Amino acid sequence: MMEQKTLVMKFGGTSVGSADALRRTTRIVRDSRRDWDRIVVVTSAMAGVTNLLLDSANHPAGALNAERSLREKHFSAAEALIQNKTTLAETIREIEGLIQVFVKLCNSIQILGAGSPRALDAIAALGERMSLRLLTATLNDAGIAAQGVEATEFLVTNSNFQNACPDFNATRKKTRALLNPALDAGNIFVTTGFIGANADGAITTLGRGGSDYSAAIIGSVLPADEVWIWTDVDGVMTTDPRMVTSAKTLSEISYGEIAELAYYGAKVLHPKTIRPIVEAGIGLRICNTFNPAQEGTRLTAVRKKSKRVIKAVTAIQKQRLVTIEGRGMAGVPGMAALAFGAVTSTKTNVPLITQASSEQSICFAVPSETAEDVLNALKTTFAHELEESKIDKVWSSNDVSIVTVVGAGMQSASGVTGGIFSRLGEYGINVLAVAQGSSEVSISVVVNANDTENAVKSLHELIVH
Ligand code: ADP
Ligand code: ASP
Ligand code: MG
Repeated sequence: MMEQKTLVMKFGGTSVGSADALRRTTRIVRDSRRDWDRIVVVTSAMAGVTNLLLDSANHPAGALNAERSLREKHFSAAEALIQNKTTLAETIREIEGLIQVFVKLCNSIQILGAGSPRALDAIAALGERMSLRLLTATLNDAGIAAQGVEATEFLVTNSNFQNACPDFNATRKKTRALLNPALDAGNIFVTTGFIGANADGAITTLGRGGSDYSAAIIGSVLPADEVWIWTDVDGVMTTDPRMVTSAKTLSEISYGEIAELAYYGAKVLHPKTIRPIVEAGIGLRICNTFNPAQEGTRLTAVRKKSKRVIKAVTAIQKQRLVTIEGRGMAGVPGMAALAFGAVTSTKTNVPLITQASSEQSICFAVPSETAEDVLNALKTTFAHELEESKIDKVWSSNDVSIVTVVGAGMQSASGVTGGIFSRLGEYGINVLAVAQGSSEVSISVVVNANDTENAVKSLHELIVH
């Protein structure tokens, strides 16, 4: 028997965000059947829906408006796309059922005062659960045999609600048992991105933007031959086209480069997507639902020789620099460990760390909204040192951005760092801190929030096209 080829395709929020987008997505799924025997489709929530759901969870008083808008969004698309009256009625009934779950959850939150992480996941997951119904019905109505199943049925995670980690062994077993019979029967298997369930069956989410990760997890456990991420731009670009209109698509990028780009804020791919793909040796492609003829970006294991030393520039905004300073920091073992222990207790992610060589200060970035919690935790941990003036100050900056330049060619090229600083100098941009990725694939500079766009634009000009 000929080897069966398996493709996992993930469609992002804009790709399922309107009747027009869903028509394009349907066409892409239909066309892909020419070349692929087994196809899994992973869907995000319709664009804007996850934000809407979570905003309502945080301000349940506005849930009534959200409820209307959820109906309008899903029902108008369903009515425009689904011709078969029974299928349409059934789809609307199912989505209405999920909207009722939303209303009940918001009511409970209003009574309780605040949503637990578990309740917030149950609410956030509704977006993908609704779009799953809509997309599956749309495909079937277009004559494409599709079976829709929520990922809670096979993607097993731990109970770290809002940022759950998959249990790959349990997920592999369940995914193969459930998906293989459907795929072998020739059905398109449609499922939800972003969500899973813990061992007890409670709904979890993989973190914002996590549908890319879902596709990678499913692709790696099946395993698939390729994972394609369908989005609203032509692939991975030299920078965010929303910030710099002259950004160009990169036809290929190495795993190391995309990992740094995604980690340092390029929203086009969730940072956790890369590892399972690399470990399973699967092909990854990022392409545009609104321009499917374009090849998009292919990920390559090895970097090919290129005249481009710098390949892309990215930024993470709304960060603050936290500094711990004092003579008592020098030569005292374990100060950094204590500091990061305190930060970890607040469950905060630290994207960048620098330490002065005098060892008299440690400085790191944290998301702005966590800065106050982090400062409090540090002040508690170092109460004794602060009292004895071994630590003089623990403070945080105003809002800053981390701007990162990525390119594997930087490993062998000299003078890149110099070029970056002179360019920022020419634009009068003050650099508050610097860090180089240990893989030498990236250099990050921290700049004031209002310098972000200029910093990205000026460094983007260093890319040789
Ligand atoms: P989806 O809903 O399809 O997952 P996202 O909004 O999460 O789409 O990601 C796609 C967006 O990522 C693009 O519209 C673009 O504005 C942004 N983006 C940021 N950096 C880059 C980059 N380097 N290349 C391409 N897109 C980028
Ligand atoms: N819908 C989820 C979010 O908005 C997941 C995703 O789109 O990848 O975060
Ligand atoms: Mg995304």
